[in-house]
Amino acid sequence: MVRYVYDFTEGGRDMAGLLGGKGSNLAEMTRLGLPVPPGFTLTTEACRAFLATGSEPAGLWGEVSAHLSALEASAGRVLGQPDDPLLLSVRSGAKFSMPGMMETILDIGLNDGSVLGLAKVSGSERFAWDSYRRLVQMFGATVMGVDSSHFEQALTLLKDLRGVEEDTHLTASDLAELVETYKNLIHLETGDRFPQSPAEQLRRAVLAVFESWNGERARLYRRREHIADDLGTAVNVQRMVFGNLGADSGSGVAFTRDPATGRRGLYGDYLPDAQGEDVVAGIRNTVPLAELRRLDAASYDRLRAHMRTLERHYRDLCDIEFTIERGTLWMLQTRVGKRTAEAAFVLAAELADEGLITPDEALARVSGEGLARLMFPRFDASATGTALARGVPASPGAAVGTVVFDSAQAVHRAAVGEKVVLVRQETTPDDLPGMIAAQAVLTSRGGKTSHAAVVARGMGKVCVCGAEELTVNTDARRFTTADGTVVEEGTVVSVDGSAGAVYPGSVPLVDSAVIRYLEDGPGDEGAQGTVDAVARALSRADTVRRLEVRANADTPEDAARARRFGAQGIGLCRTEHMFLGERRKLVEQMILAGTDAERDRALADLLPLQRRDFAGILEAMDGLPVTIRLLDPPLHEFLPDRTELAVRIATAQARGEEPDAHDVELLGAVNRMHEENPMLGLRGVRLGLVVPGLVTMQVRAIGEAVTERLLAGGAPQAEIMVPLVGDVRELRLVRAEVQRVLAETSRAAGVVLDCPVGTMIELPRAALTAGRIAEEAEFFSFGTNDLTQTTWGFSRDDVEAEFFSAYLDKGVFSTSPFETLDREGVGRLVGIAVAEGRATRPDLKIGVCGEHGGDPDSVHFFHTAGLDYVSCSPFRVPVARLEAGRAAL
Ligand code: ADP
Ligand code: MG
Ligand code: MG
Repeated sequence: MVRYVYDFTEGGRDMAGLLGGKGSNLAEMTRLGLPVPPGFTLTTEACRAFLATGSEPAGLWGEVSAHLSALEASAGRVLGQPDDPLLLSVRSGAKFSMPGMMETILDIGLNDGSVLGLAKVSGSERFAWDSYRRLVQMFGATVMGVDSSHFEQALTLLKDLRGVEEDTHLTASDLAELVETYKNLIHLETGDRFPQSPAEQLRRAVLAVFESWNGERARLYRRREHIADDLGTAVNVQRMVFGNLGADSGSGVAFTRDPATGRRGLYGDYLPDAQGEDVVAGIRNTVPLAELRRLDAASYDRLRAHMRTLERHYRDLCDIEFTIERGTLWMLQTRVGKRTAEAAFVLAAELADEGLITPDEALARVSGEGLARLMFPRFDASATGTALARGVPASPGAAVGTVVFDSAQAVHRAAVGEKVVLVRQETTPDDLPGMIAAQAVLTSRGGKTSHAAVVARGMGKVCVCGAEELTVNTDARRFTTADGTVVEEGTVVSVDGSAGAVYPGSVPLVDSAVIRYLEDGPGDEGAQGTVDAVARALSRADTVRRLEVRANADTPEDAARARRFGAQGIGLCRTEHMFLGERRKLVEQMILAGTDAERDRALADLLPLQRRDFAGILEAMDGLPVTIRLLDPPLHEFLPDRTELAVRIATAQARGEEPDAHDVELLGAVNRMHEENPMLGLRGVRLGLVVPGLVTMQVRAIGEAVTERLLAGGAPQAEIMVPLVGDVRELRLVRAEVQRVLAETSRAAGVVLDCPVGTMIELPRAALTAGRIAEEAEFFSFGTNDLTQTTWGFSRDDVEAEFFSAYLDKGVFSTSPFETLDREGVGRLVGIAVAEGRATRPDLKIGVCGEHGGDPDSVHFFHTAGLDYVSCSPFRVPVARLEAGRAAL
């Protein structure tokens, strides 16, 4: 029989799929002997069954009541017992952390009777009524669907009436009155009464948590974080402990290290006399955790000890929620904490130094995406001017945008391409769409553990929080700084998430420390720890990786940069840009040539220019392979725009003038060459077979450039690559011409030219006949952009704007197949081509030169598929090195 409920004493951290992250870690802490309030977990399986059928799986409530009875027996009182009620929290918790995205309901078991019992046993009427009003509020909003702003307004109204600022200044009778108001609100809004039966409260709360899996913000968060929609959430039912029992109680959040920088130290926020949700919500201003030492030294020491235990046990940065009830410390949650990219690198290096993890584990803990983030530019410190405000540097990076004050406005403006900065007092899960749309998030309240900080860090968004000197007036759509400067919606500001500062206007950017290191080597001032940690991760990756990393580069400058970034050659040198600019004239002449002689003249003029291009690149990559692709795009791309020509001619005619003869000739050519589907038209190898002299000229330019480099004492390693081959006969014809020209050049110059000839595999037919193609190809390079287009039948230029967002919404795919290689379809073709190509030619060199070569997930695939190298843009080279290393672990 399936089992749906596990006691905290039965689970463990390896059961996150079944018990959720929170449940499995609560169990783990229980096993470690840490003080965790007892409880049990309803499995994700129960949730899935409920969501699939709309009703609870048979046997669920039987199991729940058995576990509840055990809990009641050990507590010596029962749920909602009128004279001394056992109270429970009902907490969501999925396999992957989704902070604040689903529901949690506290203080289950209170009603009009037990609130009086609680008041008596606790000796605090105020506490009892405060707990009750929290329950009615949470239950009303979460389970009964009343808009939570109603409750907030009622609370604000009461505070105004009493003339107090903080919730804590409301008296017991104020709070009792508030409970009545809340209950009336619920009745008015739903026609239903707040349930007095503790068992009913529990049951409905559990189902509401199940349902919150499909809440709008949970779904949005999952899409953004690529979390599967069918996992479901577990539900943790746990005995309540109380942080709101007066000054010797409180709640807090802590990190075992700084989640923003990874450095050692004490990081966290503490709020005396409060329940846990107040800390994260930023309702009141917290104090730094270090304060707790002064307030309650014994609890502080115990907390520190538990934090050390957890960090050693998990061998990683942990984040923790805790509550102190009248001097007794309780651990309410832990998990391996989300961290910034910088922190991930620093932490990995430090944990390795401390011997807690091996160098390979350290490499596994960092990511190419994180490295890419550290390569983003920073603000130029000499150009920032005076800060408008300072706050907590919660999530690093530099962002410029116009100020907006709510989520809707952020989404609205971002949709039309505006860069925005979302400014809030504090964020709530409802702000998620705006946070996703914004470049940066700025709040006036809350610390490193606030909702804004946690979510922004998870998404890699810039965030400054707790900028307390700001007065944010959302209704008036403006904020005011300490010196009275008013900043209206629509004003441009620059947010520095690394320094925790906000500047007026758009501050110019400079290279990040990591880029400076990659460009110039070590020895830079500042950010030393980070740079050092990145250097160590890269060097470990270089040691363990099997895949080589090359760059896609078309100019000597790009080639040189790629080399500094660690590229081991060029995997794709496109020749099309060499036909642009002032060379267009020559290309036009070639296309329009009426006779062979005219065409040969145009090609002869192009030859020395191409030779110079190639020689420069070969020099920059001296000693390393440079794969040069013969011309790929359709020739009409080099001609002027059809409409432009037509308009010019028509205008001349309208003025009664004779149109320019060259324009007329060009328009004729453009019309002749027009293609409905240029992507599938006369391009790639087809050009080489149809346009006389083109391949000959390009190969001669390559051969002469190699000769020139050899004579200069260099070690050029040119490889000639033929694009868009679909059949071995195409390649055979072109290759014969390539070899003829190379032999001729070689004879003329008296040097040996050894240039391998290979092909791109970018059509399904090429992949499917790779065994034949390998008879003529000395290497393969997967052109995964075209291969994705042609496999899916998507035109990349058209679909990305049109229907991809709908496809993403509907879950047809979770990332664009142009970003991350589609393993199932395109990947299968890659697998076939590798196997069949190597069957024909065992030493066939195989690489990839599509955009996917720099995408982390795809790099892992190419490693597994047995490729020899990936090639990507120069800035992605370090990312690919790192991921190639991680793939080899
Ligand atoms: P989230 O996943 O959004 O963090 P949690 O389930 O952790 O939600 O609960 C929200 C808040 O309620 C937390 O701050 C936590 O400390 C508090 N809380 C949860 N369970 C208990 C409990 N048994 N006793 C006291 N506070 C609790
Ligand atoms: Mg929590
Ligand atoms: Mg292509």
